[in-house]
Amino acid sequence: DLARRARQPHRCYVVGQDEQHLRQLTLVHDLQEAAPQGQLTMVYQPQLDARTGRVTAVEALMRWQHPRLGFIPPDEFITLAEHSGSIQRLTQWMVDTVCAQLRAWEQDGCRVDAAINLSAKDVTDDSLPGRLQHCLTSHGLSPERLRLEITESAIMQEPEQAACRLDTLRQAGLRIAVDDFGTGYSSLAQLKRLPVQELKIDKSFILKLDENADDEIIVRSTIELGHNLGLEIVAEGVETEASRVLLTRLGCDILQGYLFSHPLSASQFCAWKAAHDKALTKERQ
Ligand code: C2E
Ligand code: MG
Ligand code: MG
Ligand code: MG
Repeated sequence: DLARRARQPHRCYVVGQDEQHLRQLTLVHDLQEAAPQGQLTMVYQPQLDARTGRVTAVEALMRWQHPRLGFIPPDEFITLAEHSGSIQRLTQWMVDTVCAQLRAWEQDGCRVDAAINLSAKDVTDDSLPGRLQHCLTSHGLSPERLRLEITESAIMQEPEQAACRLDTLRQAGLRIAVDDFGTGYSSLAQLKRLPVQELKIDKSFILKLDENADDEIIVRSTIELGHNLGLEIVAEGVETEASRVLLTRLGCDILQGYLFSHPLSASQFCAWKAAHDKALTKERQ
């Protein structure tokens, strides 16, 4: 029977699955030591005011360079961290790193706010608000300097608990954004009950915005809806000048995407912002 099964084509598929499984086990194991081993870094992508072109904030994004397997995409290792229980430590490392960076930039005359990404597990973690506040205080930062990006699907896993935790964070003065908006299943009623200040339209609606009439309708009505609820609207995945112009015309407040910059290292960002600010000043003269 084994010999017969071995000849069947699906064996190949099973072998592929084993490899995938082995990779996951390796990553889950190595993730525990990734931060202390210095394999993690944060990169920063500018977010611009659509009307003035000024940099308002950066989104902080995590990078993992595995010593043997190379670059591991965050979509892959964050999911593994959530399922294996190491997300809390990763988030703690990330919050510390970003707060220290905001402070260091400020001392170099480069002042920006930061958006950080939280996972579903973070949102339901009792200790998160306290740990965030502790980190802000110890770096001498006021709470408005951090914006928490939480995906629609993370909020909707445990909507009641998430709403309660977000209330605490909001009352502590942090700003809250719904990330990847439009890809989940949140209803308007739910959205209204959440203490959020910002909607971040998912890049799948933005990437082809200049060619796709349906995307334009979705984006237009999301902006209208968000504004009617008193929310600020961010678009991610702005890659073309045509999309920038259209989003600005539709009233989108904040833009982020490769058109302006890819995510940058801390020192690259500082240099990029200085050049960007200089170009803006020149334009005005
Ligand atoms: P996200 O929060 O929705 O982040 C936006 C993603 O879009 C980033 O991918 C960014 O590099 C990418 N992006 C930005 N502009 C453009 C553009 O113009 N075109 C295209 N095609 N892509 C663009 P990245 O860095 O690979 O991150 C993927 C996801 O991983 C993030 O999605 C977020 O959900 C998660 N992630 C990243 N860092 C962290 C972290 O520190 N903690 C947690 N919990 N999740 C993180
Ligand atoms: Mg995000
Ligand atoms: Mg997103
Ligand atoms: Mg995403």
